Amino acid sequence: MNKHRAVVIGAGIAGLSAAHFLSGEGIDVLVLEKEYGIGGRCKTFVSSGYCMDTGAQFIRDSYDRTLKSVVSLGYGEHLRFAPNKCSFVRNGKFTYFKPRSQNPFRSFPWGAIGLRETPSAIALLSLFLREYRRFDIRFPDRWNLEEAGKLEAFSHLIYGSGLEFLDAISRFALGSGADALSYGACLASLRMAFADHYGSFSKGTGMLVQAFSKGLKIMRGIEAVEVVMDGKKAIGVRARPSSRGRARTYHADIVVCAVPSMVTNAICPKLGIDARRLLRRVKYSSAIVSHIGVAGVIGAKGPVIFSRGEGFNASWLCTHRSKSDEIAPYGHTLITVVFSNPDNGLFSLPDEKIIEISMKDASRALPGARIEPVFTKVFRHERARPIFSPGYSLLLREFLQKGSGVKNLFLVGDYCSSPTIEGAFESGHFAAKQVISAVGS
Ligand SMILES: Cc1cc2nc3c(=O)[nH]c(=O)nc-3n(C[C@H](O)[C@H](O)[C@H](O)COP(=O)(O)OP(=O)(O)OC[C@H]3O[C@@H](n4cnc5c(N)ncnc54)[C@H](O)[C@@H]3O)c2cc1C
Repeated sequence: MNKHRAVVIGAGIAGLSAAHFLSGEGIDVLVLEKEYGIGGRCKTFVSSGYCMDTGAQFIRDSYDRTLKSVVSLGYGEHLRFAPNKCSFVRNGKFTYFKPRSQNPFRSFPWGAIGLRETPSAIALLSLFLREYRRFDIRFPDRWNLEEAGKLEAFSHLIYGSGLEFLDAISRFALGSGADALSYGACLASLRMAFADHYGSFSKGTGMLVQAFSKGLKIMRGIEAVEVVMDGKKAIGVRARPSSRGRARTYHADIVVCAVPSMVTNAICPKLGIDARRLLRRVKYSSAIVSHIGVAGVIGAKGPVIFSRGEGFNASWLCTHRSKSDEIAPYGHTLITVVFSNPDNGLFSLPDEKIIEISMKDASRALPGARIEPVFTKVFRHERARPIFSPGYSLLLREFLQKGSGVKNLFLVGDYCSSPTIEGAFESGHFAAKQVISAVGS
């Protein structure tokens, strides 16, 4: 396989995952990243001893593929599952890690759904538990055609139980209202809400990026401007330095595009019709992540979820105690407030105003705690997460079966039904498998 060369565009989790698995197969891989830092929406910014996750905050114990790879790459010791007390990994092995809660009642966000919705939660929970093993709800788009009935059956199961309840769940898990989500994304949000445990890394989720970038050839500060085609075949990527300078072509016989959909649309000139249709359907919601450093140790062990209608602007918050003691300096607390409601109109406000609003919400959510900031920092994502509209997952299934429409061009990242780290990672892995079977045949 040594003669094959792949160029991967984008060093987020999806691109790094594809590059990692491809180079594991002996393919010569080059990753092009337009920023000087890698990780995309999964980065940790370190300042004054605080490790601040700028985008993705948590991994979950259902992220099977991510976790297995992290452990095999030797980063197991850095995994932390704070709410479960005993759960971290020693000597590269899952010694103390308990996969998935045996008691989802305990990890369910009761606070988010409120008293009124509790009866439907209980009804759904028992149905869900009965059906849980039958459905691989992380990636329903991967169900094969004989299992087509599954999607309908499960969607009936969940939509039948009332939108208000689902709305709380999906806001909690994915930051979008249920009415904007596909079945697939709803299923993923249920899985997260009911049965998963939260985890992080000793120095933040950016450690994931460190793990997956190990040994890879990555050119930073290089922006791809076009996938170069020769007839129906991709033959390379034209890219230029992000600062300034001339563009050049990086030749390859495999191209993996791991960037948000509007970038893919702009730089891939000859996609198939299914891929184009899919890309046009992906819409993004914005998000703001605000960090407040406080002297003294305060805060709940798990994340605190804010339900709608309670007058909060933010969607949820967590402290370093929900993640890992090591992300805040000794004797300090890092409070992270996340605004992921797409229609809250806060995005244009200046940082000081965001901090003021974060402090107000945090004071209500952590009653009795003295919140006097010694440090603040705000991160914004104009395109935080795809909002999967209804019908999207069906389109996605077609797309995954047919591909990009160009035999040696693979699209990964936001085109999977789980807009999460595991979804990004899994899509990179999936593409690598397709590449291997294509070049092997
Ligand atoms: C605020 C927030 C909170 C989140 N919380 C969670 C969470 O708790 N758990 C979870 O699992 N997921 C979470 N997510 C989702 C998760 O972060 C994403 O699904 C995942 O990181 C996406 O990875 P990706 O590789 O597909 O895309 P990205 O991370 O966006 O990577 C794309 C990369 O491509 C680069 N790029 C773009 N254009 C070009 C170009 N022309 N040339 C070269 N490079 C280019 C970008 O700079 C970027 O580095 C969250 C996301 C946000 C924003």
